[in-house]
Amino acid sequence: MIVVAIDGPSGVGKSTVGKALAASLGIPYLDTGAMYRAIGLLARRNGVPLPIADPDRVGKLSETAEVRVTGTGGNVRTLLDGEDVSEEIRQPEVSLYASAVAAIPQVRRRLAAQQRELALAGGGVLEGRDIGTKVIPEATAKFFLTARPEIRARRRFEELIRKGTPQDLASVQTEMEARDQADSTRADSPLACDETYQVVDTSDLGPEQVAEQLRGWIVARLSVDLQRPDV
Ligand code: C5P
Repeated sequence: MIVVAIDGPSGVGKSTVGKALAASLGIPYLDTGAMYRAIGLLARRNGVPLPIADPDRVGKLSETAEVRVTGTGGNVRTLLDGEDVSEEIRQPEVSLYASAVAAIPQVRRRLAAQQRELALAGGGVLEGRDIGTKVIPEATAKFFLTARPEIRARRRFEELIRKGTPQDLASVQTEMEARDQADSTRADSPLACDETYQVVDTSDLGPEQVAEQLRGWIVARLSVDLQRPDV
């Protein structure tokens, strides 16, 4: 079974690369950020103000919510208690809610357990912030994607235009920096890279090129493993 972890900050191309890689390896793809976004949306719908002053309340809300990410390739859908929230969770305000609820240990425990179970059931490419450090530390391969800040902001800016929810570049950049800061400094499962990751700078590469590079690394790695006498 192949489990691939792709971690890194926003705007480095994790989703596009992850989908392409999963399709080329013939295994499922899981966008774990969509799950945090769904819980963020739930908090917002319940009128929880930001910054979150009552994490227990959000923790309780998340315990009874059913979050599912289904489908493949260009048709991945996110369901919150059976309702398709795929578009709504991409709103910039929900991004900030996602990052806020993602700092709550109770929320993380639940979603991470669900992600691990899915990965161990059928393998997959999992994309997020803590996949290789916490969710599946034993993954077949772990990649940490990076890109120069101005490139990341520009990608996100163009993505929002494509999705019909444009925002000016400066506010995209501000939101991104706020999320990166929160995601890298929270106490529970911060975004972090260690020596078990392959680091790939995607600044000057297209998503297909990055996916091809990761695929090459996995294939090489698997054939090396297969040649080891103890495997
Ligand atoms: O990847 P995406 O930008 O959709 O993730 C939204 C938010 O969810 C991130 O800013 C991060 O706070 C949180 N997240 C997380 N752990 C993951 C995936 C996402 O904390 N594995």
